[in-house]
Amino acid sequence: MLGPPGAGKGTQARLLQERYGARQISTGDILRRHREQGTELGVRAREYMDRGALVPDSLIIEMMAGELHGGSGFILDGFPRTVAQADALDGLLERLEQPLTAVILFESDRDQLVRRLSSRWTNPRSGRTYNAQSDPPRVAGIDDQDGGELIQRPDDQPATVQKRLAVYDEQTAPLIDYYRDHGYLAAVDAMRPIDDVAAEIARLLGARPAA
Ligand code: AMP
Repeated sequence: MLGPPGAGKGTQARLLQERYGARQISTGDILRRHREQGTELGVRAREYMDRGALVPDSLIIEMMAGELHGGSGFILDGFPRTVAQADALDGLLERLEQPLTAVILFESDRDQLVRRLSSRWTNPRSGRTYNAQSDPPRVAGIDDQDGGELIQRPDDQPATVQKRLAVYDEQTAPLIDYYRDHGYLAAVDAMRPIDDVAAEIARLLGARPAA
């Protein structure tokens, strides 16, 4: 899944996981778990994440080498985010003998992204997100599934959101041409309702519901 922060990659990856059984692997969620657990990686990642910068490629690539296993399929959400990471992913997938199926580009409108991120509420335990306006939880501030508290991520604050969007333009957007050149790119209009976007992605992937 390729696209700017707030485009709905995590939401769609989670839906695809529920409906089609492919495992969601979100680098942001993994890094946040490392921070909670106070691992060395978590401590090192914190300073970058809190200012909306990318965590260095070497740390991310090493982390992902440990996360990706062969066997069933997976959905990558938030990785790769740089050309160096995309090159490393090619090598990892080759070693797993698991070819890339497609790269889904989430096409989005900038003003809507800023609005989405600033009204986003997150379950810090599962990574599930809500939007206070368009996709609210049943009870404000409480997760529908586990009944625990929702939080606003510190990096969803307005100044950090602008920085993350600028980082996307500079470091991640070059991957659009990279994957277009390699013939993997399929674009969706990510500003449509959640279920419409999900249906479009399933159609593009030729996905079949999990038994
Ligand atoms: P996300 O939840 O995907 O918005 O990620 C939150 C933060 O984690 C980002 O702003 C980065 O600081 C860091 N991060 C997540 N994925 C990556 C990645 N692939 N490369 C570098 N940093 C990442």
